[in-house]
Amino acid sequence: MITLVRGFKDILPAETALWQHLEDVARQLFDDFGFAELRIPVLEQTELFARSIGADTDIVEKEMYTFADRSGASLTMRPEATASVVRAYIEHKLYAKDPVWKLYTIGPMFRRERPQKGRYRQFYQINAEVFGLEDPRADAELILLLMTLMGRLELSGIMLHINSLGCAACRPHFKEALRSFLTESTAELCSDCLRRREKNPLRIFDCKVPACKEAMLDAPSILDHLCDQCRSHFETVQASLERFQIPYQTNHRLVRGLDYYTRTAFEVLAEALGAQDAVAGGGRYDSLVKALGGPDQPGIGFAIGVDRLIELLAHQRQGLEKRPHLFIAALGTGAQDRAFGWLQELRMQNVRTEMDFADRSLKAQMRRANKLGAPYVLIVGDRELEEGSAELRNMSTKEQEKVRLQDLVEVVVNKTRN
Ligand code: AMP
Repeated sequence: MITLVRGFKDILPAETALWQHLEDVARQLFDDFGFAELRIPVLEQTELFARSIGADTDIVEKEMYTFADRSGASLTMRPEATASVVRAYIEHKLYAKDPVWKLYTIGPMFRRERPQKGRYRQFYQINAEVFGLEDPRADAELILLLMTLMGRLELSGIMLHINSLGCAACRPHFKEALRSFLTESTAELCSDCLRRREKNPLRIFDCKVPACKEAMLDAPSILDHLCDQCRSHFETVQASLERFQIPYQTNHRLVRGLDYYTRTAFEVLAEALGAQDAVAGGGRYDSLVKALGGPDQPGIGFAIGVDRLIELLAHQRQGLEKRPHLFIAALGTGAQDRAFGWLQELRMQNVRTEMDFADRSLKAQMRRANKLGAPYVLIVGDRELEEGSAELRNMSTKEQEKVRLQDLVEVVVNKTRN
C-alpha cells in the first residue's frame, strides 16, 4: 500500500465542513474590514525566502523544501506567505495604484519540521497583510481583526501576547546589551546559540534547549531599549487594544521566528494545544518591501495556523455536516425513472436530493434514508404514479401526507426551506 508522506495529512470529508465554515467566517470578516483576496503560487525562487525570512532562522537553515528544477533553478515550496505577498505587491506595482493595500490569502505552507501533534510538514494558513500604513492604529486594527475572528468562531481559552521589536535605530543597541549580558553570564549556550549570539542574539529567546532558556531568564528587556518613536508607537497600539477591550499581555521575550519584523510583534496562544500552543502570529515589517526591491512602504501582517485552529474548534464539528433534504424511495422501474428526473429538478432548486439506483425493497431504501439523515422521504411506486401522487414522510414526526405529483417540486422546495 502506498501511504502518506510523513508529516503530511489528508483532511477527510468529516472534517472539511468545519474547514469550510472557518474559511467562510474569515472571508466574511476580511470583507467587513476591507481586505481583498490575493492568490499566490506555492513555488517561489529560493532566494525570495532566503532574503526575507533571514539566513540564520530555523526555517531557512533547515526546514525549507528546496530543490533544483530540471533547468537547474533553485525553487522552494513556500514556508510562509508574507514573502510571496510582498513579491506580488512589488512585481505587479500594486503600490503605484495605491500605496495602501489590505490583502489576505489562504493556503498551504511547507516546512520540514519534526512532525508531532499540531506540527505538520504541510499545514494551512490564513494570512493578512497591510501595506502602506505606518500608523499604530493599523497595528491595532489588524489585531482587532484577528481577535474578532477568534470571537466569531466562539474560541475561548486564548491569550494575545504583544511585544515591540524596535527599529533599525534602537534594536542594534538592544542586541549589543543582550550580547554583553550573554558574554558575562556563566551559563553554557548551545552551539547554535553561540553562533546566534554574534549574528542575531534575539533568536536565543526562541531556543528550546534548557540551558539556553535558563541563560535567558534574567535577560534584558527590549522594551527598556526602545527609541522614543518606537515607544510611542507601542503605547498607541496598547491604548487602542484597551479601547476595544482586547485583553493582552506584553511579553518582552516574544521575538518570532523570522527576521523581518520591526516594532509590533504578536502571537495568540491557546493553552489547550499543549506544546505547539501558537494559533496565530504576526507583526510589523517596515523594511521588508524595500529590502526585496520595492519602494519604502511599511507593512504589517499575521498568519493563523488553520490546522491548530480546527483542533480547537473540533467540538463544533457536529451539526455542520451536510445531509440531504430529501430521499426519494422509488419502487419499480417507472417510479425509478420519474425519480431520476425529480432528482435533477430538485437539485436545480437547491434541494439536496438523493435516491437509491438499486431499486431495493422499501425497507432497504428507508434504512438508507435514515443513514443519510434525510428529514423527508418521498415514497413512490408504480401504483402512486398511476394515481398521480406520492407519499411524503416526515422522518421525525413519522407523519405522511399525499402530494400531487404536479405540485411535488413546489411542495418539497417549501418544506425544505423552512
Ligand atoms: P509562523 O509563520 O511560524 O509565525 O506561524 C504562524 C502560525 O502557523 C503559527 O502560529 C501556527 O499556528 C502555524 N504553524 C506554523 N508552523 C506550523 C506547522 N509546522 N504545523 C502546523 N501549524 C504551523
